Amino acid sequence: MSFSLQSILRPHIIQLKPYSSARDEYKGEIGVFLDANENPFGSATDLGQFNRYPDPLQLKVKERLAAIKGVTTSQIFLGNGSDEPIDLLIRICCEPGKDNIIQTPPTYGMYQVSADLNHVLVKNVPLNENFELQKEEILQNIDANTKLIFLCSPNNPSGNLLHKESIIEIITRFNGIVVLDEAYIDFTPNESLLSVLDSYPNLVILQTFSKAWGMANLRVGMAFASEEIIHYLNKAKYPYNINGLSQRMILDALDNEGRKNRYATSIVRQRNELVIKLSELAQVLKIFPSDANFILVKFERAKELFDFLILEKIIVRDRTKVIHCEDCLRITVGVGEENEALLKKIQAFYNT
Ligand SMILES: *Cc1c(COP(=O)(O)O)cnc(C)c1O
Repeated sequence: MSFSLQSILRPHIIQLKPYSSARDEYKGEIGVFLDANENPFGSATDLGQFNRYPDPLQLKVKERLAAIKGVTTSQIFLGNGSDEPIDLLIRICCEPGKDNIIQTPPTYGMYQVSADLNHVLVKNVPLNENFELQKEEILQNIDANTKLIFLCSPNNPSGNLLHKESIIEIITRFNGIVVLDEAYIDFTPNESLLSVLDSYPNLVILQTFSKAWGMANLRVGMAFASEEIIHYLNKAKYPYNINGLSQRMILDALDNEGRKNRYATSIVRQRNELVIKLSELAQVLKIFPSDANFILVKFERAKELFDFLILEKIIVRDRTKVIHCEDCLRITVGVGEENEALLKKIQAFYNT
């Protein structure tokens, strides 16, 4: 198959003239800035200086990130969480009421929400009971109006990696864009598909600073793709979508990649310990293998357990209503004491 971005984008997006910001006209940092109607004196807070607009294209962050990820700065888009590129991809590709996307439930909820918000039809091709891709069914469900296929690996809420060969086959046999969400890639020893990004012009890879990097509060997500796709994401975004404070903090975090890696290692160790302890309980019916920082666990009387845990101020995620997740709770791995507290309360629930 042959991919042409021009035939995937909504026609008016190809024509779209983006907002030209004051800071687009002069890139220097030193000067007399009388172009953006800012307050020249300072900010109404003592917690920092915020009176100047931030870099709309976050170049310093991207230069640092490009070196770490082995891509060019023009292959990176930064968004207000991964939610922003998810929404923008749907908005620039899908004609409301006409085009559709494919997703593979059970999976991350924002693909559906963004599609609904944009009045774009969602075709569901569920994963099988082992949470593996049904590759042929996905390919059969593609029609002339299918613009995007969302795949999530490791998958949320099941925690497993999707098979690389199946992902690649879908990318190569689809004329639209495959969005591969790698939010949990730091918790698996398996390689990101970022290493083959250059081979697939219709691949977008999403990663995030919200999980292993520990920066969820700042809301910064990454999209990696061809320079051409990134160009259109940049045209469609709000001019200053990543605020200056977030840019500074992310830049600092990127200088501490080792710390991120140590966090990921600790979380994986805690996860494996939690799995062992949970598996000793008779009322734990199944623990699904996880390559992420959470586990999906099938319990006896799961909904009752969930309600009990809430009363005990231990909050996990109820997935009991989700396809293939009957009687399952999704548990984020905490620090040692938190996991111990959880185990104690689960035991207390079943022993009364
Ligand atoms: C947590 C998560 C994200 C990250 O979202 P942000 O908006 O970057 O915080 C993305 N995708 C999946 C599947 C997730 O679980």
